[in-house]
Amino acid sequence: TEQYDLIIVGGGPIGLACAIEAQKKNLRYLIIEKGAIVNSIFNYPLYMTFFSTAERLEIGDIPFSCLAPKPGRQEALEYYRNIHRYFKFSINLFEKVTEVKKLENTFFKITTDKSLYESKNVVIATGFYDIPIEMNVVGEDLSKVRHYYKEAHEYAFRNVLVVGANNSSVDAALECWRKGANVTMVIRKNEINSRVKYWAKPDIENRIEEGSIKAYFQSNITEIRENEVEIDTPSGKVIIENDFVLALTGYKPDLGFLENMGIQLSEDELKTPTYNPETMETNVDGLFLAGVICGGMHTHKWFIENSRVHANMIVDYITSK
Ligand code: FAD
Repeated sequence: TEQYDLIIVGGGPIGLACAIEAQKKNLRYLIIEKGAIVNSIFNYPLYMTFFSTAERLEIGDIPFSCLAPKPGRQEALEYYRNIHRYFKFSINLFEKVTEVKKLENTFFKITTDKSLYESKNVVIATGFYDIPIEMNVVGEDLSKVRHYYKEAHEYAFRNVLVVGANNSSVDAALECWRKGANVTMVIRKNEINSRVKYWAKPDIENRIEEGSIKAYFQSNITEIRENEVEIDTPSGKVIIENDFVLALTGYKPDLGFLENMGIQLSEDELKTPTYNPETMETNVDGLFLAGVICGGMHTHKWFIENSRVHANMIVDYITSK
């Protein structure tokens, strides 16, 4: 078994930031990533524009040049690939960590779908984009129901129902409508979420007001069938024709994975993992959290700009121990 000072689980922006710091301090480290480098961003909608400006996505003090005010998915992929070209990380791609276990109170055994490793310290930077939050309605398992949206073309000239009123839902509704889809939105609350990007919010509100996009507020899907959808609205049950459902109802971190390593979660619905906010160390000595995973179910608390510092905090602490 290979032995390391630090194993970083997850090759997202924050996992890479941790690797940069580990490299600067000459730690023997390895990043293990289950997909492609920055796999979450790779899985974003193709034409997504970040809410952050380019410099707020930077890691390792490497400038991110971008002509528009905000970068898109492709530019971010280019940037993070260049980061790897520059730092030449020690990274294993397409390898999934299945278990992290502390042995004899001295080191961790890390099991993946390909191999076994040992490390004195482990950082979990696994994000939250791998498990969609389900609606739990009849018909959700039909193939026309999608929890990830890629691009509009497939939905052109079809009846598309978009569930939710966050950034993902609003972007998808607008794009699909602009490519000729007949778009209806089903929104649990009575308004578009205030967190929606400042340029997209008036756009969607105006499309709804003029009737181009139909929206049912304070409503929920109750059943999805092959050619129609049943919606519970304040004025009663409505049945509409339907070809596709984009259920962009959010994503959640793999909290069971954390619990299996012995990390304690808060009892409330946020299920916040336990960690020391000064060192990012969890209740298990030598086991750290970094990036958006730190928020538990509160997936909007942390993002790149406010969590890239976790990397310095963790590596400074490890090297001072
Ligand atoms: P992630 O980028 O999610 O990286 C986690 C990595 O861990 C993934 O590559 C995953 O494949 C890997 N992984 C998971 N489990 C395992 C395992 N068991 N073994 C090995 N590898 C594993 N943030 C911003 O700052 N600005 C924005 O504009 C912005 N826009 C967003 C738009 C969308 C559509 C979404 C979904 C999120 C957006 N975010 C944005 C949030 C953003 O995703 C995060 O800020 C950023 O990706 C967090 O980085 P991370 O490294 O913590 O997690």
